[in-house]
Amino acid sequence: QLRQLLDGPRTPAPPRHANSPRPSKVQADELPRALAQHEFVNHYQPKVELATGRWVGVETLVRWQHPVHGLVSPDQFIGLAEEQGLIGELTRQVLRRALRDSREWTSQQRHLQVAVNISMDSLSALDFPDQIAAEAAAAGVALSSLVLEVTESRLMAHPLATVDALTRLRLKRVSVAIDDFGTGHSSLTQLRDIPFDELKIDRSFVHGAWRDASLRSIVESSLGLAGQLGMSTVAEGVEDEADWQLLRQAGCQLAQGYFIARPMPAEELDAWQLRWATRAAWLTGR
Ligand code: C2E
Ligand code: MG
Ligand code: MG
Ligand code: MG
Repeated sequence: QLRQLLDGPRTPAPPRHANSPRPSKVQADELPRALAQHEFVNHYQPKVELATGRWVGVETLVRWQHPVHGLVSPDQFIGLAEEQGLIGELTRQVLRRALRDSREWTSQQRHLQVAVNISMDSLSALDFPDQIAAEAAAAGVALSSLVLEVTESRLMAHPLATVDALTRLRLKRVSVAIDDFGTGHSSLTQLRDIPFDELKIDRSFVHGAWRDASLRSIVESSLGLAGQLGMSTVAEGVEDEADWQLLRQAGCQLAQGYFIARPMPAEELDAWQLRWATRAAWLTGR
């Protein structure tokens, strides 16, 4: 299984169409078994500082190590898990593993913020902030090293419940990020009222912005807005050097994307770090 993780083909996510949002090869009724057997694995995608190239954190991205279909992407099962009321258990498994890995990195003197994607359904559960705190305490991880990412388009469907949960999380020093920014319909008022620490510009605006004036203006105004509201900024989908240079010049703080690293199993991070150190030195001219 490990070999398959390391060498297995990375199947690209199938395209999504309006009338078939989840062209899933996996069956809905397989999820309870998969959760019971712990078939879900965490991959991690590094986040780095654009100005310095410094590695500052990872985003946790879940995959299903399916006995027949191999590594299945989250787009094919997160929605199913939500529909079946299983997203809470899935999130718990992903979070626990991320906290255990975080603890391990800290013991190696590696200080990384660990981001976990949170579904709206979990966020609106009343005891969610307490659950997070309990899991982190059990794992011996400081809440300040945790970032919770919530997708913009889902967020605005339930603004009241989420403001409450997000406020309570931030009181516990957990950071919260608004994910896929630009794909939802948040108003400026909502953004002002919801306490985010980090704004992640959706990759559909990032890649290729250097040769497209309208994308560039979306990127620049998102950065301006985040700056005004005191949020840090992350560009998703940095896929090539031109993307990197544009975001760096535009003053974005962090970058994530295939140009830096693909999401990978925890065991591959060491080797990536070595390769990245060389590239980062070159990219930032140090
Ligand atoms: P996301 O949180 O916006 O994560 C970023 C997605 O973009 C990931 O897809 C990542 O692999 C992909 N990506 C990263 N860099 C690049 C790039 O340079 N180019 C391109 N084209 N893509 C890039 P992935 O892993 O398939 O995850 C898809 C979505 O599934 C995530 O979007 C997130 O919303 C959701 N998801 C993943 N893990 C979890 C989880 O544990 N819980 C929940 N609730 N949702 C999750
Ligand atoms: Mg995310
Ligand atoms: Mg995103
Ligand atoms: Mg996304």
